[in-house]
Parts: sequence; structure tokens; C-alpha cells
Amino acid sequence: MQLYTLLPQVNPPDFDALCQRLKVDEDLVDEFRDIYDQCVASAAPKMLYGVCSVSRADDGKTVVVGDMTFRSKVLHINFEKIATAYPYVCTCGRELYNLSQSQSDPLSQYWVDSVSEEYLRLAMTKATMQVQLDQHTSSLSAMNPGSLPDWPIAQQRPLFTLLGNVMGEIGVELTDSFLMLPVKSVSGLMFESEEHYTNCTLCPRAKCPGRRSPFDPQLYRQKYHLGA
Ligand code: SF4
Repeated sequence: MQLYTLLPQVNPPDFDALCQRLKVDEDLVDEFRDIYDQCVASAAPKMLYGVCSVSRADDGKTVVVGDMTFRSKVLHINFEKIATAYPYVCTCGRELYNLSQSQSDPLSQYWVDSVSEEYLRLAMTKATMQVQLDQHTSSLSAMNPGSLPDWPIAQQRPLFTLLGNVMGEIGVELTDSFLMLPVKSVSGLMFESEEHYTNCTLCPRAKCPGRRSPFDPQLYRQKYHLGA
């Protein structure tokens, strides 16, 4: 499998918007500015991705990407007409993670983690556009192990195996409990989707601050046969 490493060059997150979102007290703005500046100086987000062939078994849940097998009803349905998938890990970078780990004050660590999350979001957007350009694809959607009960987090293992030396390439390690370090990292399978699939349309969780689209109960039951 062909692997690619991207170093997305992103503008720093908007300082005032961050102050507002994190509800930084007026008398703490200078302190936050200092942390923010350290983050901007350290940030080096990265993405590792591959280009893989896709095949599906007839059992309604088994999908083979490259030489790794994944099991998910939603993945099987989403990949019905898909010949190529792009497994990936995108991260805020070890540099920001180390900065977070070096903070002794919990508030400072929270601030570093929050800025890191913004870098991850910006990097993911920019890197996805780069993959689309480089691979000449139409709009890309993604599925992520652990985001839906249908595709449990243990499926991180075959994903990381597929991508090889993720730690060596972009500094992301997978723990025994399938969490990624740096924590501000995201992994999954990208694929072409004119319907702009998002996991959130199949996730009934209430009051999620990260929700990107409303839960669609009809799609949930009728197209994906979930909740039965
Ligand atoms: S609603 Fe929240 S928990 Fe559910 S898939 Fe979307 S971001 Fe994840």
C-alpha cells in the first residue's frame, strides 16, 4: 500500500474566539495569551494516510481494506459502491502533546489541550482537502472506529496495523485500550461520498457539543438497519 505523510500548514486558531469559547476571565487573558503563544510556536500537526483497495463479503458486515478485515454493518453499506478507501491518522502533533504534559497547573493544561484540539480540527480540514486534490477524488467522508456501537473502538488495531509505523511516521501511538496518544488525534477510513456521510446522523446521543449534523432516525432504521 502506498503511504503518504502530510504536514498541513494551518493558520493559528483565532485568539479572541478561543477566549470566548473557553470563557477566559478578563484578568487571566495575559496568562492565556502566554500559553496560546507557546502553542502556536510548538504546533506541528500531521497526517498519515494510505490508498487501499476495498472488497466486501456477502455477510452484510465484513469489509476488507487493503489486507485488513473490518466488521461493521454501517461500513459495509457505506462501501457498497466504493473501490478505494483512504485509512488515516491525523494528529495535533507530539509537540503540542509534550507541551500539555509539561504543564503542572491543570488550567494551563486544559488551555493547551483546547488549543491542540483546534489545531487538530484545522489540520483535519486542510489535510482532507489535500487528499482530495492529490488523489483526484470527489468529496470525502470518514468513518471512525469507536464513534458508533456498530464499529467498536477495538477496530483501531487493524486500522493501525494497516498504516504500519504510525508512531515513527507521525508520533501517534495506540495504547492497549485503543486510545491514541497524543489524545488530540483522530483516525478512520475516508471514502468518497456524494451524500456527505457523517457519523452524527446515526448517533442518538443527546447534547453532544461535537455534533455536526442532526440524528436521523429514519436513516438509522431504514438504510442502516440499526436499533433493531
Ligand atoms: S453526536 Fe457526538 S458522540 Fe455522536 S458521533 Fe457525533 S460527535 Fe460523536
